[in-house]
Amino acid sequence: MKAGIVGAGLGGLLAGAYLSSEGFDVEVFEKLPFAGGRFTSFSYKGYEVSTGALHMIPHGKRGPLGRMLREIGCDVEIVDSKPEGEFLLNGERELLTKESFTKLDVLKLNLEFLMNKLGRKRTLEEFARGLSERSYLYVRSFLGWSFSISPEQMRFEKIVPIFRRTELYGGPGIPIGGCKAVTESLAEIIESNGGGIHLRREVKAIKPGEKHKIFLDGEERKYDVIISDVGHKITSELLGEKHADHPPESKGVKYTVAIDEPFIGHTGVLFVLGKSIAGMNEVTNADENLGRKHMLQIHQPLRNGTKEEIVQGLREIREILRGYSFEIIAVQSYKGDWPVNRVMAGMDMGNRTKYGSIYVVGDGAKGDDIEVEGIALGVRKVLEDLL
Ligand code: AMP
Repeated sequence: MKAGIVGAGLGGLLAGAYLSSEGFDVEVFEKLPFAGGRFTSFSYKGYEVSTGALHMIPHGKRGPLGRMLREIGCDVEIVDSKPEGEFLLNGERELLTKESFTKLDVLKLNLEFLMNKLGRKRTLEEFARGLSERSYLYVRSFLGWSFSISPEQMRFEKIVPIFRRTELYGGPGIPIGGCKAVTESLAEIIESNGGGIHLRREVKAIKPGEKHKIFLDGEERKYDVIISDVGHKITSELLGEKHADHPPESKGVKYTVAIDEPFIGHTGVLFVLGKSIAGMNEVTNADENLGRKHMLQIHQPLRNGTKEEIVQGLREIREILRGYSFEIIAVQSYKGDWPVNRVMAGMDMGNRTKYGSIYVVGDGAKGDDIEVEGIALGVRKVLEDLL
């Protein structure tokens, strides 16, 4: 069986690595000169600046992605974060534990789960408004960090499976070598199984048929299966169709900060409450090779993607890091064809297309979990169909 994969992002490479291990003849086409999409990095000023995602796997070793990587022999070590998280509110820091929330807030959460089962449909904003101010700000910060959205943009029921998975698997982990170590290892698996990764080869069109065709510049190739890692919108365009009611993407900005001394001092997430920036991590505490000194990755969800929002984010960073010797080495905004998420969290559109063996994976076609864990679950669904 021949599988053609459009795009060498995490979803495409993960699907390709599995299929090539199962004897599929895999060819990956990537329009850029590098593989990894938004899940790799470049060395800049002695720091591994990621192309998109944070150097982080939301549920660490035990989560869906960690498990899949182990299953296919992807040789990447994932260091689970300890502590998992901390808050920063009004200049004060506090570890994130179960005791961080008042008994009343926990009761309200359990009640909302129950009411939700009974059919109550509310947004997270409608729910969280009834919590103490600190819990409300935490919900905002968590959603901003994990999904780049705010609570009014997500329905409560969408968070339920994610909440359960966090209880099951726990918090984040950091891959040693960063996201690049993961995608490079997947690419090696594809190549060692005889598959090909073709860089600077843009797919111009896809034509479904008994054998599906992929059109490249001046060439066409035939496949039994096509897996697209570029989201439903671009996939439809490649198929010569329009996706009129495609949900919006989520936008955000990531600041990479080189800092002489550790600011966070551990491997967990520091959630920033009550600010436009949502949180930060300091991955050099897990892997010192990710930066010459220490490196903070700071994420801010963007509402409109305006310059003013970024100016505000920069102001907040300078205020939080006052007294430290640091340099903001990269400000990367994510929108359009290079967004935070191709489809806003909670609106993912599944992995199938109307053509039997043409699938979509990646962050526009996630399963019920966050970030790269959702991508792994989406790939798993496609594999269940195919294997
Ligand atoms: P990601 O954005 O991380 O999910 O990865 C998707 C990858 O697909 C990126 O590396 C894009 O450069 C690549 N890509 C997007 N459109 C095309 C296309 N038409 N042909 C080949 N690669 C593409």
